[in-house]
Amino acid sequence: MTQPTNDVLIVGGGMVGATLALLLGEAGWRVALFDAAPAVERATPPGEGAPALRVSALTAASQRLLASLGVWPWVAARRVAPYRRMQVWDGEGGGEIHFDADDVGVEALGHIVENELLVAGLEARLEALPQVTCLRGVRLTGYTREAGQAVVTLDTGEQWRAPLVVGADGAHSPLRNLAGIALTARDTGQAAVVTSVRCAHGHAGTARQVFLPSGPLAFLPLAIEGGDAHCSIVWSTTPTEARRLTALGEREDGRAALAEALERAVDGRLGRLEVIDAAPHFPIVQRHASDYVAEGLALIGDAAHTLHPLAGQGVNLGLMDAAVLAEEWVRARQRGAEPGDPRILARYARRRRGENAAMLAAMQGFQRLFGSRQPALRLARNWGLSGVDRLPLLKRLLIRQALGEYGDVPQRCR
Ligand SMILES: Cc1cc2nc3c(=O)[nH]c(=O)nc-3n(C[C@H](O)[C@H](O)[C@H](O)COP(=O)(O)OP(=O)(O)OC[C@H]3O[C@@H](n4cnc5c(N)ncnc54)[C@H](O)[C@@H]3O)c2cc1C
Repeated sequence: MTQPTNDVLIVGGGMVGATLALLLGEAGWRVALFDAAPAVERATPPGEGAPALRVSALTAASQRLLASLGVWPWVAARRVAPYRRMQVWDGEGGGEIHFDADDVGVEALGHIVENELLVAGLEARLEALPQVTCLRGVRLTGYTREAGQAVVTLDTGEQWRAPLVVGADGAHSPLRNLAGIALTARDTGQAAVVTSVRCAHGHAGTARQVFLPSGPLAFLPLAIEGGDAHCSIVWSTTPTEARRLTALGEREDGRAALAEALERAVDGRLGRLEVIDAAPHFPIVQRHASDYVAEGLALIGDAAHTLHPLAGQGVNLGLMDAAVLAEEWVRARQRGAEPGDPRILARYARRRRGENAAMLAAMQGFQRLFGSRQPALRLARNWGLSGVDRLPLLKRLLIRQALGEYGDVPQRCR
């Protein structure tokens, strides 16, 4: 069967792949986007009813990118939770640091968004672009190059061709594997348990993270029915403990025990807690592709890198990948250059690989520092947290970093 002519094929229509499709589609490119996940029948639309289990903390830079694409107003009109404050403390000592949006004169330090709501917002915008074809429920099974074209085979038997192909197909990226791009992977020895809780004390627009000996525990504020009584939980801990916590989440009486464990771990700062969902867990593996590009091919998002969720940076880095790749390709075409030119692809890789590598290294360092039981290190980190808390200049610098405003920030995110 003959397929329409496309400029680029994007494999993976999660938050990152769908953002790239929109960036290129808006620039007039003919895009085909494939995703393995079928469209699901839902009782309530995304952003209504109980909170979704998978959420992301988006930086100001990511928010600006989504605003420039018209996606942010769609999502914000439904359900997002801004947070104006952050509290980070050491569960094994007195060290504590506070960040406030007022310190740098911004409205919010970030926003918590349900992943499925963001994808729905991206899809709603993509539907308005006739030059973008979105196929859901189709799986990439083969990839090769013929006569300067990428040839993608789907599980339907269809073959699609275009000069360029992008892998936005997640941590286990089939396209990366089929293209033979190597990967370094480091098991962090932790797994992340996610669930949702109702809290007796409102979260007051504050994101909280406590570093426990087994790993960090985050309480991310949600805005369910406009209130501040719900939080999304990301509890990074040992795989054995993660399995135990997941098992607790499966039983009614177990959820009460899980709620008590969470209350204790967070020093009761949010009062009595009620666990309102299951508590699945995900292994935490830091991965980095040895190359982000090959002939006519680029990797973005989790297909290129995955990192510890402790700083909530994964999807933000992926969105920056999409913005930089689109910036390079659209600019190349405007100048009459070929977007598939290896020099253009190399520029994308150069701009993103170093930034992402630095973040991966920082997460590794954090995990070591806070996972250490050495008395000297424990003392240093407690002193460090409280010490930095008394240094307004350094704190402002850290906030700007967390807002995604340092480094090589693509045009649309400034
Ligand atoms: C517990 C936890 C908490 C996190 N919290 C945060 C946070 O607060 N902030 C943050 O920035 N990041 C966070 N992250 C990371 C974030 O979730 C990921 O970085 C993000 O989901 C990656 O998006 P993506 O679009 O690159 O990949 P994915 O979301 O994995 O999307 C990949 C897509 O590819 C599709 N696909 C896979 N195989 C095929 C195939 N063969 N054919 C076609 N399609 C295919 C899949 O169906 C999927 O839709 C967290 C991660 C975890 C595990």
